[in-house]
Amino acid sequence: MRVFVLLLFALSPFSGPISRSFAQPKVEQAMLKQGLVDVQKVDPTILVDLKYSTTDNFVGKDVYGDLTRAYMQPMAAEKLARASKYLQAHHPNLRLLVYDAARPRSAQWNLWNALPDLPENERQKYVADPRKGSIHNYGCAVDLTVATKDAAPLNMGTKYDFFGELAYPSREDKLLKSGKLTQQQIDNRQILRTAMRQAGFSSIEFEWWHFNALSREKAKMAFRVVD
Ligand SMILES: [Zn+2]
Repeated sequence: MRVFVLLLFALSPFSGPISRSFAQPKVEQAMLKQGLVDVQKVDPTILVDLKYSTTDNFVGKDVYGDLTRAYMQPMAAEKLARASKYLQAHHPNLRLLVYDAARPRSAQWNLWNALPDLPENERQKYVADPRKGSIHNYGCAVDLTVATKDAAPLNMGTKYDFFGELAYPSREDKLLKSGKLTQQQIDNRQILRTAMRQAGFSSIEFEWWHFNALSREKAKMAFRVVD
């Protein structure tokens, strides 16, 4: 009888830790199986707000569904933890706030199709062609900002996923001279870039929030696309 009761307990959907492990979203289970890690398990001080898992994004729709945590390849998550440590060593009251990390291929199509009015060559500045794959699809890229301890983002001059010159790191000098960005906004971006670069990430021309842990070529050679 006791064995029977224990068995029932173990199979019950209300049995605490057991049911929680079953409740882990399929998309996260698949990522773990592919060897990715939850960045907050590597560094619990990193803040996460996956914008594509909310309606507060350029599509205006939740394209991630169950995926609410930030996963990356272990080498990329280690680099992110180094950036986080560097940031806090220099600015004890600031934290990294992650907006996007590993992105499943299906979500890449949703984002690509959400910009039908932009010609494909223009669209590629903002969303990688799903046929080629984004570095996010390999778990080797991260979108993020710097925030206070209670997750209030610093003013970077634009919101995340602002599509236009104001978000281009390559135009900051010009935008400062013409008064479209302030020195404070550029300094805030510099805090983010310095922490990320010294940890081994590279930045890109069109988005202040995007950083790569590996080039697309290297990511492609080393890893599979996240399903
Ligand atoms: Zn990105």
